[in-house]
Amino acid sequence: MVSLTSAGAVRLSHECGFELAGVAPALPTSDAEEYLDWVSRGRAGAMGYLTDRRARLRQDPRNLLPAARSIVCVGRLYNTPHPAVADEYAGWISRYAWGEDYHRVLRRDLERLAVRMEEAAGPFDYKVCVDTAPLLERSYARLAGLGWIGKNTCLIHQGAGSWFFLGELITSLDLAPASPPPDRCGTCTRCIDACPTQALVQLTSARHELDATRCISYVTIELRGPIEETLRPEAGRHLFGCDICQDVCPWNRRAPVTADAAFAPRNYAPPLTQMSALSEEEFLAMFQGTPVTRARYSGFLRNVAVAMGNAGKPELRAPLERLAGSPDSLVSEHARWALARLPPEPPSNYERI
Ligand code: SF4
Ligand code: SF4
Repeated sequence: MVSLTSAGAVRLSHECGFELAGVAPALPTSDAEEYLDWVSRGRAGAMGYLTDRRARLRQDPRNLLPAARSIVCVGRLYNTPHPAVADEYAGWISRYAWGEDYHRVLRRDLERLAVRMEEAAGPFDYKVCVDTAPLLERSYARLAGLGWIGKNTCLIHQGAGSWFFLGELITSLDLAPASPPPDRCGTCTRCIDACPTQALVQLTSARHELDATRCISYVTIELRGPIEETLRPEAGRHLFGCDICQDVCPWNRRAPVTADAAFAPRNYAPPLTQMSALSEEEFLAMFQGTPVTRARYSGFLRNVAVAMGNAGKPELRAPLERLAGSPDSLVSEHARWALARLPPEPPSNYERI
């Protein structure tokens, strides 16, 4: 049996399609206390999977795998060459949700990685994590040398930016850990200045956090009820998620793009009128297999209504009036709010003087 080193695990990770890879120790991180403090101050909103008993599980990876010794952390690029669309009648979907649901893609390739590692090292205990397991993913990715955590709270790789999905293979193998890279945000505050809802909060000169309750990503994806009225105008035409604090980051200026067909865009700037007329079946068929279904039909139509109000086009009055008649009170209330923002339609039969 051949033994496996950290360099070997990284090489196998690259061969399994992960552009970023490194090894972190499977020990509690100093970020765990800050995380619990963030939760205790209500910054996670209604995301129960972040705040319930799983919040404490996040303190130690050995809560997920008692035999854990090291974590192979990986990053999969999802950036595509498609630019922002200027069409004022289109909604906007966050880049990460343009293609196939990353959970399935990363899990499949992490399972492949585990098989390849067992071929080299013999059988070992492992657990695959992709976003859903209670693990401080960005903290371990940083410890594994994949990047630093920027003021926009994303993991940033110096050469490749932040358009990455993160995944982990917690293992019982003793692999030598990498060193975390330095924080390269410096004096930059572009993401903080560009955030439309002031959701990025500076706590100290070295510590920033996300107030998820103000973040457009949270309110358009995770929030099940009404969107706070003061936040609605700032949500713009975002139908699902928000990329602004990554779009403005200078480290993403030369971000590479993926050749993986799984992340090729499907419906990334859908026409608002068409979205407002989708039946639930049509919504599920259109976004099947992508992360967008997480918003659920009701939440998606709520977001469409807000986006139409923010588009401010009189031609959107008729489709909004149809949404205002929805039997779903969440949708109809947001549609009425949006109608009040539209300018009046010009009279169609006025006489020219
Ligand atoms: Fe602000 Fe959008 Fe970034 Fe959320 S995703 S912190 S709303 S810029
Ligand atoms: Fe850091 Fe500037 Fe990027 Fe924000 S925009 S994450 S401050 S480099």
